[in-house]
Amino acid sequence: IVLHADNLQTIQNLGRGAYGHVDLVRDRQSGKSFAVKRMTLASFEEGQRRTLMEVYVAAQSKDCPYTVNFYGAMSLEGELWMIMERMDMSLDKLRENIFGADENYKIPENIIGNITYQIIKGLSYLRDEVSVLHRDVKPSNILINKCGRVKVCDFGISGNIVKESLAFSNVGSKPYLAPEKISPRDGQVGFSSRADVWSLGITVLEFTTGKFPYRGWQNAFEALNDVVTKPSPTLPAGEYSDEFNDFINSTLKKDVNERPRYADLLKKPFIEKCQSVDISSFVQEFANE
Ligand code: ADP
Ligand code: MG
Repeated sequence: IVLHADNLQTIQNLGRGAYGHVDLVRDRQSGKSFAVKRMTLASFEEGQRRTLMEVYVAAQSKDCPYTVNFYGAMSLEGELWMIMERMDMSLDKLRENIFGADENYKIPENIIGNITYQIIKGLSYLRDEVSVLHRDVKPSNILINKCGRVKVCDFGISGNIVKESLAFSNVGSKPYLAPEKISPRDGQVGFSSRADVWSLGITVLEFTTGKFPYRGWQNAFEALNDVVTKPSPTLPAGEYSDEFNDFINSTLKKDVNERPRYADLLKKPFIEKCQSVDISSFVQEFANE
């Protein structure tokens, strides 16, 4: 279908991040709805790079069922609009819904395993087929829908640059950053997909327990220092299977060289046995605002 700006009607806001806001938009002509991310066409270089990268990666990963579906981009009113499929919510919102109702709720392990499987598939596609690292893996950048699909989004700071200074402005309110990104040691300077594996581990741990495993970002230095100096966080003792513990502990190896790659993660029993678990009714139960 062909979209005309005049026919697009904004229905509601779906979310906001540091760089753009995302609205639910309906095309009056076709009756179809889309999620539209509006980004200001920044005049500064970093902003332009971000916007370009975002659209490039989205376009390159069109065929992947584990990245958010991208239909096209258009430039309008000094903004760039990215037209995407509408998902139901991000993982941070889902977590709030789950634990807001019952802070001791225990999400079944096979549900967590399947969500994690789908995230790994998205991240490994980006790496293998698009040759980029995501670099901003966190719950607000993982989208989920009532059909039980989980998709990675927000490719603004993705890239394949090997060495660069840390963009702390991208860290948000909590550090999902791997230790080697905060304090690179010799031989660990480069960025590898294993930094994304760490962020994945923190994301899954937070989703499981309902709590971020480190102190928040109010005091930035201490928060980052904890990641580097404290032992890796773990699941609460005695509550989860050995397979799940093994999965979390391997993603949160502080030494990047000991952390598994995506191919290894996909072979872990916790992930492998959850490949075809259907999470749709779980999502439907909690995805109502
Ligand atoms: P930013 O770069 O500003 O972080 P994101 O792409 O992460 O922007 O989008 C911000 C928020 O908007 C997400 O956390 C999510 O809640 C919501 N969102 C983004 N894309 C979609 C989509 N396709 N469908 C539904 N909600 C979305
Ligand atoms: Mg985001």
